[in-house]
Amino acid sequence: MAFPFTGDAQCPCGTSKFRLSKIPTRRFLCHCTICQQVYGKPYSDVTVLSAARVAVDTPHTIEFAKYKEGPALDRGICKECRSPVVGFLPIMPFVRLAFVPYTNILDKDALPDPAMHIYYGTRVADVEDGVPKFEDEKQSQRKAAGLVLAGFLGF
Ligand SMILES: [Zn+2]
Ligand SMILES: [Zn+2]
Repeated sequence: MAFPFTGDAQCPCGTSKFRLSKIPTRRFLCHCTICQQVYGKPYSDVTVLSAARVAVDTPHTIEFAKYKEGPALDRGICKECRSPVVGFLPIMPFVRLAFVPYTNILDKDALPDPAMHIYYGTRVADVEDGVPKFEDEKQSQRKAAGLVLAGFLGF
C-alpha cells in the first residue's frame, strides 16, 4: 500500500494524466443511459471531490463535451482511447465538482467502497451486491445530490 496517497490518475491508455491532491471520500455507481453510452459499460463507477483538488496535466489530450441540455456534467474524454478521464460540474459561480472514474485512480487502497447505485431503473443488468439501489430519476438525483455534497466537503 502506497502511503501517503499519491493522487496519480490517468485514462485507461495512459495518455491523459491528472492528479488528485485529496482522497475522494464518496463513490457511486450510475446506471443512467448517458453513462452507459459514454463508458460503453452497464454503469459508471465514479468518485467525487472538489474540482479544486484536481490538476489536469495533459489538457491537450482531453476533449470536453456535455451530453444533455442545461446544467450538465462536462465530460472529459481521452482523444486517444475515447474513455472518460474526468468530468466537471459547476454547482455555483467559481465552485465546481470533479467526477473521477474509479478505474482512473492508480492508488486504490485509500478509496471508499461504492455508497449506492443510482438510475438503477435504466440498468441493463441486475447487480447482486449489498449496495443500496435507487431506481427512479427524482430519487436518484436527490440521493446523488446529498452524496456529491458530502464528497465536495470531503467528510
Ligand atoms: Zn450516469
Ligand atoms: Zn486514453
